[in-house]
Amino acid sequence: MNEDHVLLKSYLKKLKLPAILREYPTVSRLCSQDNVPYEGYLQRLAEIEVQHRQTQATARRLKQARFPMVKELSEFNFTAAPRVNKKQILDLSMCGFIEKRSNVVFTGPPGVGKTHLAIALGREACKRGYAVRFFTAAELVHTYLEARQEKTVLKLESQIRHSDLVLVDELGYVPFDRMGAEHLFGFFSQCYEQTSLIVTTNLPFVEWPQVFAGDERLAGALLDRLTHHVLVMEILSDSYRLNASLKRKTKSV
Ligand code: ADP
Ligand code: MG
Repeated sequence: MNEDHVLLKSYLKKLKLPAILREYPTVSRLCSQDNVPYEGYLQRLAEIEVQHRQTQATARRLKQARFPMVKELSEFNFTAAPRVNKKQILDLSMCGFIEKRSNVVFTGPPGVGKTHLAIALGREACKRGYAVRFFTAAELVHTYLEARQEKTVLKLESQIRHSDLVLVDELGYVPFDRMGAEHLFGFFSQCYEQTSLIVTTNLPFVEWPQVFAGDERLAGALLDRLTHHVLVMEILSDSYRLNASLKRKTKSV
């Protein structure tokens, strides 16, 4: 074979095997040193390409999910949140709830880790091959209103249909007008038994009509869909954010 392996390199490029192209000189050297049989050598190269593709696909899914920040489960301090059931969270991170098309709702006051847990679970889902999309509730409504103006609601609905998991963060902070409430209702109806949801909210369910233009019937119908297959986790601890900033302040005085 030609010293520079020109033909081999061009075949690997044509076949779109960039990881093999990059790694084969090293793997060839190691395998011939260790007298690895041909099959073992080929398997090693195939593994390298598969791993590379998986890493790339995960990176693409994480990007498409549009998380506003990086939060990992490994960074969540369960000792600081004794009311959060660690086992239940680890169980959710296996994504069985996505397979069952069921939902998760984190409720509780501000600063207790609802968004952190939602993003961390969303990232776990991306790593396991699921298509995920993050919105704040306000963003979601805004996206619908914009799509309506631009006559692209069908496209938006198709994007949602192609997601396995949608995160709706901070439901309850901003109340919606009639149109916004109806769009949210449409969204929850579309996701019902099709796409899993993780919702974070500071409001107990009885107060949800407030958010949905004061419409008890609409809020009721929406809750009915959201909570048909749901795990509700109420996080009742002191604000981690507040505690952390108090600690910092105490240190600095
Ligand atoms: P919420 O959504 O409930 O208002 P966040 O998830 O935004 O709260 O948490 C506020 C900040 O505190 C974030 O930076 C988050 O990473 C951090 N935080 C909250 N709880 C924990 C925890 N138990 N361990 C580690 N960080 C936490
Ligand atoms: Mg939050």
